[in-house]
Amino acid sequence: MPGNLSFDDLKSRVTDGSIDTVLACFVDMQGRLMGKRFHAVNFVETSFKETHCCNYLLATDLEMATPDGYASTSWQTGYGDYVMAPDLTTLRTVPWLEGTALVLCDVLDHHTHAPVPHDPRAILKKQVARLRDLGFDAMMATELEFFLFEKSLDEIRAGGFRDLTPISGYNEDYNIFQTTKEEGVMRPIRNHLYAAGLPIENSKGEAEAGQEELNIRYAPALDCADHHSIAKHAIKEIAWQNGRAASFLPKWHHDRVGSSSHVHQSLWQGETPAFFDKDADLGMSELMKNYMAGLIAYAPDYTFFLAPYVNSYKRFAKGTFAPTKTVWSVDNRTAGFRLCGADTKGVRVECRIGGSDLNPYLAQAAMLAAGIKGIEDKMELSPPTRGDVYEDAKAADIPQTLRAATETLRKSAFLREAFGDDVIDHYTRCAEWEQEEFDRVVTDWEIARGFERA
Ligand code: ADP
Repeated sequence: MPGNLSFDDLKSRVTDGSIDTVLACFVDMQGRLMGKRFHAVNFVETSFKETHCCNYLLATDLEMATPDGYASTSWQTGYGDYVMAPDLTTLRTVPWLEGTALVLCDVLDHHTHAPVPHDPRAILKKQVARLRDLGFDAMMATELEFFLFEKSLDEIRAGGFRDLTPISGYNEDYNIFQTTKEEGVMRPIRNHLYAAGLPIENSKGEAEAGQEELNIRYAPALDCADHHSIAKHAIKEIAWQNGRAASFLPKWHHDRVGSSSHVHQSLWQGETPAFFDKDADLGMSELMKNYMAGLIAYAPDYTFFLAPYVNSYKRFAKGTFAPTKTVWSVDNRTAGFRLCGADTKGVRVECRIGGSDLNPYLAQAAMLAAGIKGIEDKMELSPPTRGDVYEDAKAADIPQTLRAATETLRKSAFLREAFGDDVIDHYTRCAEWEQEEFDRVVTDWEIARGFERA
């Protein structure tokens, strides 16, 4: 059971009065928890079976605008309902909110009760099922990087997002003294999430002032994505409760390092690590090489799922540890893919391309699909690169702009086959809309540069 509360436990806790609120949430295209706050009595009596939400919720942007151009929902079709079906295995307490539990929901068609194909959870479940048909399970871990700021989100918004002072005054990579100063926020994040049933490993300072990282122990792919979404949500809420702001914007300032979400991945057959071959070079099995070959070859196709906004691409700068090349290396942090745990049962590949703004369900699903393609086509892995990959002229680039990534997504035959045309069309429209919105705005930079001198 991925959660920490059975349905019977919930019912007893509702009866004894220690839980009075149940958050029923699904994950939207942006990876956010959306849903309703139920009175717990109503939830355990009826709503645990299903509840409903407007079907525009899987077709909005970050600001809840309702762009045109989506086949699944529109003003013309009158914005009907979806079913939110609670996945009771994900029931858990929310220790940072009084008397509250949370359950994640799958999104279903209102009439047929079939999964909505572009629901991020459904997209990941489909790839997990494909992998299971091949006889494997994926174990994944996503690292969460973010920045903490001195002021609260509400104060920062009231100030027009101008007074952005990070919580620390210097690069705090692995720095224990500075991170002690942040324990007022980070300790409740670790402890509350652990108490909610998330296998928290650690938090640490990252390589920029105010930058943090939270690590969660690897888990089956769907659980990993659930953990990521809940943890990201909790980090924002707990920072807010403490009068601070947590931001997952990948690049909040052009002179500061950006935030990533590295994804560790390995395949297993029961207890056996299918990526490990003790007799092979670096301990990498043929299966692992095929998987990695697919992962690398198709990285341009799925870059949108690792970098979904205009801002995401500002992170891909030389010399910042954010990779731009579709190559792999052995323990080298400048390549898009890094081999970790070589020669051990923990041998795995880490994708370093994704930003802190990725939707973990979509990112993992796309990478699993690429790995599956590599396995099915027995794709051959090229040798690892060495040295500074940024300077390697032969290495292929991932798309450098949202515009370019939208086109590789739109044209990806492999993703269309794996996800379905309807899903790729849906997310291509999502990508186009982000670009359209950005293109129509006059930025501060243009004004400052050209107002007098143009
Ligand atoms: P680092 O020193 O890069 O932080 P860690 O050893 O802490 O590396 O591991 C990073 C992440 O990789 C952790 O979240 C861990 O749970 C995960 N991980 C470890 N082994 C595996 C594996 N076999 N498959 C997938 N993820 C794994």
